Amino acid sequence: MTTGDSIAEVVANDLCIGCGLCEAATGGRVRMQPTTTGSLRPRPLDGFTADEERALLRACPGVVASPRPDPDQDHDPYPDRDPAATSATAADPVWGAHRWMGLAWAADPDVRFRAATGGVLTALASQALAGGRVGAVLHVGPDPDRPLRNRWVLSTTVDDVVANSGSRYAPTAPLAGLAAALDRSEPFAVVAKPCDLGAIDRWAAVDPRIDQWCPIRLTMVCGGQSRATKTLGLLDRLDVAADEVASIDYRGNGNPGPTRVVTTGGRHHEVTYLEMWEDESTWAVETRCKFCPDALGEAADVAAADAWPGGAPTGEDEGFNAIVIRTRAGWELVDEAVAAGRLVLGEPIDPRRFDELQPHQVRKKEALAARYRGLADAGVAPIAADGLRLDELGRRLTDDQAIGQRRGAADRIRAIRAAADDDRCRPGP
Ligand SMILES: Cc1cc2nc3c(=O)[nH]c(=O)nc-3n(C[C@H](O)[C@H](O)[C@H](O)COP(=O)(O)OP(=O)(O)OC[C@H]3O[C@@H](n4cnc5c(N)ncnc54)[C@H](O)[C@@H]3O)c2cc1C
Ligand code: SF4
Ligand code: SF4
Repeated sequence: MTTGDSIAEVVANDLCIGCGLCEAATGGRVRMQPTTTGSLRPRPLDGFTADEERALLRACPGVVASPRPDPDQDHDPYPDRDPAATSATAADPVWGAHRWMGLAWAADPDVRFRAATGGVLTALASQALAGGRVGAVLHVGPDPDRPLRNRWVLSTTVDDVVANSGSRYAPTAPLAGLAAALDRSEPFAVVAKPCDLGAIDRWAAVDPRIDQWCPIRLTMVCGGQSRATKTLGLLDRLDVAADEVASIDYRGNGNPGPTRVVTTGGRHHEVTYLEMWEDESTWAVETRCKFCPDALGEAADVAAADAWPGGAPTGEDEGFNAIVIRTRAGWELVDEAVAAGRLVLGEPIDPRRFDELQPHQVRKKEALAARYRGLADAGVAPIAADGLRLDELGRRLTDDQAIGQRRGAADRIRAIRAAADDDRCRPGP
C-alpha cells in the first residue's frame, strides 16, 4: 500500500491538492510550482529533510483529514438567548458538528454584489480585522503580475479583504503563506478551502504557534478545485490567447455572476455560470477532490455555501449564502458582525434542507467509503478520515452502487499510477 510514506508518493498518486504547506514548512526551499497537467505541486520532491517530511505527512491533506473539535462545545456563550439557537452543538452524519445552519449575507450591498455568493466570508473576515480580533487575514486572490494564476495574500485592511473576495476556480496554494502569517506573531484569520483548513489544524500538532495565532478559520463548502486546464479551455472557447489575458473573475458581480475575461487590449468576454459549469466532463477537478472527506468544512469555525435548491442556480439573485456555524469562536464572530452591521442572518435551515441545497455533496460523502475500498484495491492507502463518519454514510449505498464506486475509484487510481509519474511534476507554463 502506498501514500503516507513520502510526499513524493502523495504526489505520484495525485492525492496532493497543492495546498502549499510543503512550501511553508521548508522555508520556501520546496516551492509550489505549476505542472503541465495544470496543478500546483511541491518541487523538488527530494528537497525535504527527514524531519520536515515526517511532520508534513502528519498534516498533508493527501494523507489525513479530520474535523476540528470545538474546545468550547459545552460552553454556552449566550445563556440569555434561545439555547436551541446558540449553545447546543448538534451532530449530523452528513454535516458534522454545528451550532446553527441558515441563510446569511453581507449587509453592505457592494460587498454582497462583488463577492462570490452573498459575501459572508468577506464580511466575517472584515469583522475579524475591524473588530481587532486579528491583525491580518491569510487568503488568496488573483496574481496581478500573472493573471492566469492566483497567489496567497495577507490582507491587513478591510479594503484588501474585499479586493480579494470572489471564488478562484483554479489552483491556489494558500498555505504557502502560512509561515509569513505566523512570523508576524500576532493573531490572523484564515479563509481557505476545507482541505487547507484541515492541514492547518493538523499542523498545530507540529507548530504550536497555529493555536496561538490563528483563532479564526473560515471556509467555503467546496465541490472541487479545477486544474488550470479548465481556465485554458475557457480561453480556447473564447478565442483568447493566454498572454492576452489581463484579468479573470470566475464569479461575483452578482450571484453567481458571470465568468469574465478582460484582455490587455481592453476586450471583455463573458460566459454565464451555467455555461461555464454545465458540462461536468470539462471541470478538470483535482483527484483529491474525488476522494475528499471534508468538503463541508469541519475544520472551520464557519463554512459558507451557495443556497441554490437542487445545487445549481436558475438565474441571478441578490446573493444568499447558506452557512454552518460550527464553533463558539464562529458564533462570537457572527454575532459581532451582525451587531456591527456587516452581516445579516436569515432563516435557519435544518440539515435535511441543507442536503437539498447540496445534493452532490451528500452523494459524494455517501460514496467515499466504497471509493476508499477502491483505493486500497489499487494499492493506495485511503486518506485517514477519523471522525468524518464515512463508514456510517457508506452504508446508505446499495450493494450495486458500492461496487460501482469501488471499481470506478480503483480504475481511476490505477490509471493515474500507470501514467508517467513525471507528468504530474514536470514544470508547466
Ligand atoms: C474551488 C471552489 C469550489 C466550490 N464549490 C462549491 C460547491 O460545490 N457548493 C457550494 O455551495 N459552494 C461552493 N463553493 C463556494 C462558493 O463559491 C463561495 O465561495 C461560498 O459560497 C462563499 O461565498 P462568499 O460570497 O461568502 O465568498 P467571498 O466573500 O467572495 O469570499 C471568498 C473567499 O474565499 C477565498 N478563496 C476564493 N477562492 C479560493 C480558493 N480556490 N482557495 C482558497 N480560498 C479561496 C477568497 O480569498 C475570499 O477570501 C466553492 C468555492 C471554491 C473556491
Ligand atoms: S497537499 Fe499540501 S502538504 Fe500535501 S503534498 Fe501537496 S502541498 Fe504538500
Ligand atoms: S473538494 Fe476537497 S480536496 Fe477538493 S479543493 Fe475542495 S476541500 Fe479541497
